[in-house]
Amino acid sequence: MTSPIRVFKFGGASLRDANNVKNVASILAKYKEERIFIVVSAMGKTTNALEKVVESHAKRDGKTFELLEEIKQKHYELASQLFPEKHEVYNTINDSFVEIEWAIEDEPHDNYDYMYDQIVSVGELVSSRIVAAYLNELNLPTQWLDARDVILTDDIFREGWVQWKDTQERADRIARPMMDKGGFVITQGFIGSTSENFTTTLGREGSDYTAAIFSYCLDAQDMSIWKDVPGVLTADPRIFDNVVKIDRLSYKEAIEMTYYGAKVIHPKTIKPIQNKSIPLYVKSFIDPDGEGTYISSEIEDNYPAMVAVERDQALMLISTKDFSFVAEHHMSYLFTEIANRRLQVNMMQNTAISFGVCVNDTDDKVNQFADAIKDNFKVIIDRGLELITVRHYTAEVLESLKRGKIVLQEKRTKNTVQFVVKHVPVIRRKSNVPSDLR
Ligand code: ADP
Ligand code: ASP
Ligand code: MG
Repeated sequence: MTSPIRVFKFGGASLRDANNVKNVASILAKYKEERIFIVVSAMGKTTNALEKVVESHAKRDGKTFELLEEIKQKHYELASQLFPEKHEVYNTINDSFVEIEWAIEDEPHDNYDYMYDQIVSVGELVSSRIVAAYLNELNLPTQWLDARDVILTDDIFREGWVQWKDTQERADRIARPMMDKGGFVITQGFIGSTSENFTTTLGREGSDYTAAIFSYCLDAQDMSIWKDVPGVLTADPRIFDNVVKIDRLSYKEAIEMTYYGAKVIHPKTIKPIQNKSIPLYVKSFIDPDGEGTYISSEIEDNYPAMVAVERDQALMLISTKDFSFVAEHHMSYLFTEIANRRLQVNMMQNTAISFGVCVNDTDDKVNQFADAIKDNFKVIIDRGLELITVRHYTAEVLESLKRGKIVLQEKRTKNTVQFVVKHVPVIRRKSNVPSDLR
């Protein structure tokens, strides 16, 4: 009888240099008798660096090849610490980057997002090639799978939406037989393909989501995401001191926190695994034997206060120009304009003649939205804000989080308080976390 399939995802931090790649291999070696489907991100900060290549090409600033060369050299350098001098992996790395060279030799494409996906996706392609070659080098037989042959998306570049029926069909036809052959199968996070075979990406940090898509389609026994933290913590340790690990979380709790900015798990990850009751472990690649956090359908009711901070928020105050009520037909119109731009709404509130909406201020979407509605509505936009979400709040936690900040909008339900604030400390200045978070 074949053993159940388990899905492991390793992110950029776990692959940021040769020693980290060795560490990942040593984790995987412990599971060599099991059927592990591996999803990897681009190495370290490669995606950010590739974004700069795209920007430079679009601006025609003359630095594009130089920026690409730096990324390429980093990958060669990393590979040189893992492979002998004359290994075929060097050709593979070169071939991956040649795709970008061809793209940037041409004039920038009119559709920036299309161009972005064709270039940025190479980060994951090259990283998965290197890890696959290294595992094979260590006699850990590993097949390489192109995620674009399985994950079908619509053609909204940079934020492709998965077409589940076709993706499931391709996973059954392509990925499952590979798993049945034995050994590991490795693929890329973050990327997919349109029905016309153009590469798409699923949104920044989307590799966790890819792992969930494969977990769903392959009916995985469980899924593990290997991070640089011991598990899910009560708040982001980069922002707060004295946070503690949460041992067990329900899917519901996890989806609430990640939706509002707990960056440890991509928010789209929970739904597919919840739908098939696949448990999710958040584990530390630094301490692989640590217990991590176990996320499942189990109901826990004794949670500590948990804080998520979402940066780069814009608060739009939309009001009618003629003092008429913001009525249902206005709302319907506004939401259609919001949905068409895939603006993420994080909080909203309305009064008789105004509608306050807090959204992620990424790209140029907020300006485009404001422009589209300006003939019918007055719009005031406040930018550079933070949205703080607190689950299982206490008065002490709220007080401490609000100190030194101007609260522009607040919403409270039984378990959750959210507030949009201004003038919050910069990331490097750690706030003292109230005792309830310890
Ligand atoms: P990956 O390497 O998979 O891309 P990420 O960097 O996206 O991993 O996620 C891990 C980071 O998430 C941690 O380093 C931590 O700073 C941040 N983080 C934010 N909120 C939390 C939280 N509640 N618990 C743990 N980590 C968190
Ligand atoms: N490499 C992509 C990013 O940095 C996807 C991911 O790491 O999850 O956004
Ligand atoms: Mg990440």
